[in-house]
Amino acid sequence: MTTRIPFIGGNWKMNGDLATLSDLTRNINTTLDAKSKTEVVVFPSFVYLPAIKKLLGNNTIALGAQNFCQHEQGAYTGEIAASMLKDIGCAHVLVGHSERRQLYGETDQVVAEKCVLALKHDLKPVLCVGETLAQRQSDDAESTVLAQLDAVLDQINMDDLQHLVIAYEPVWAIGTGQTASAEQAQAMHQCLRQHLRNKDNHLGEMIRIIYGGSVKPANAAAIFAMPDIDGGLIGGASLNADDFVAIVNAV
Ligand code: PEP
Repeated sequence: MTTRIPFIGGNWKMNGDLATLSDLTRNINTTLDAKSKTEVVVFPSFVYLPAIKKLLGNNTIALGAQNFCQHEQGAYTGEIAASMLKDIGCAHVLVGHSERRQLYGETDQVVAEKCVLALKHDLKPVLCVGETLAQRQSDDAESTVLAQLDAVLDQINMDDLQHLVIAYEPVWAIGTGQTASAEQAQAMHQCLRQHLRNKDNHLGEMIRIIYGGSVKPANAAAIFAMPDIDGGLIGGASLNADDFVAIVNAV
């Protein structure tokens, strides 16, 4: 059986300023066990990426961006290219976060294009998928999430797919304080993994599927104990160093 390395991401969203995010980084750096076997990545806003990178140094914590443009380069005023993120030391990128899908109209097609571009530039995509409350209530949660995944799987070759991390983030649980129960999350993770296995057994065993949606130190251990949950994408709680490190330690 494949042992998947746990993955915890801190999505800082559009929060903080240089002083508070620098403090947060220093505090995470000093509190996190250097021997931790978990892959830890922080996702600050674009403008703070170089400063946070400097503070992280060669520490085990990696740097990621929250978004980028689906085009390679050129006349796209205000956008940021995948190659630029690679250039300044990012290793990961969030793709298709529900806030991007809902507030900025990112379609499955755009999300798939971004995943392809990220991989081309040696950035590891954290692909976010998840259903709304209405979709869950009308029994469409699985079909929604699998369609979001398929849009990406269809565009990426097998060798590249192993670099993908999938974040299952039910939209109704993000920033609401309403977490999916560990059993609800496990059921969707199992469904996603089975879907990957049906494509390629080895792929299904090795791709990390992490959970996001109001994870806190108090509920993290129960969620991460589930067999198909390989870590978490943490929003609100990642803005507090003690909470974030407690969540990392709960894996
Ligand atoms: C997120 O935005 O990815 C997230 C999981 O947020 P929160 O932990 O605040 O629900």
